Amino acid sequence: MSVLKIVRYPEPVLLAVGKPVLDFDAQLKTLVEDMFETMYAAKGVGLAAPQVAVSSRVFVMDCSGGEDETQKIAAVNPEIIMQEGEQIGDEGCLSFPGIYQQIQRNMKAIVRAQDVDGNWFELDATELTARCALHETDHCDGVVFLDRMTILKREMAKRKIKQLQKTGEWK
Ligand SMILES: [Zn+2]
Repeated sequence: MSVLKIVRYPEPVLLAVGKPVLDFDAQLKTLVEDMFETMYAAKGVGLAAPQVAVSSRVFVMDCSGGEDETQKIAAVNPEIIMQEGEQIGDEGCLSFPGIYQQIQRNMKAIVRAQDVDGNWFELDATELTARCALHETDHCDGVVFLDRMTILKREMAKRKIKQLQKTGEWK
């Protein structure tokens, strides 16, 4: 397993719609293992393939931070089939280091996805798990959390990114 490089906004691959996965081969399994390794190394709770410069519809998540094996989820070709309610809370993203902002999300979501062998499953998520699953599915669609912010908060975040770029802290 290896730790991959996480790309930062506004890398074009982050803003492109990921390609559907058709082959459930060894290459996919390696990608998923490396993505888990990369996510844990970065102390994140979710990571999508476009964040490691692979334009595919794949994400991994673990809201327990490695504490609970049952929360370790790899989702291939994810789609949101139900979402309801609302929650507002702080959100961050490994492709936006140092940027945290309040984001409105659904309180519940059901995500339909395939595992690394191609078997379909449904993830019934609430609260942080729902927030994470929605954030990562967005990545597969080329949508970043900046797009989910209110206009005011988006401008604040963009200004902060510009400052960090100027000082060389954002590469
Ligand atoms: Zn993210």
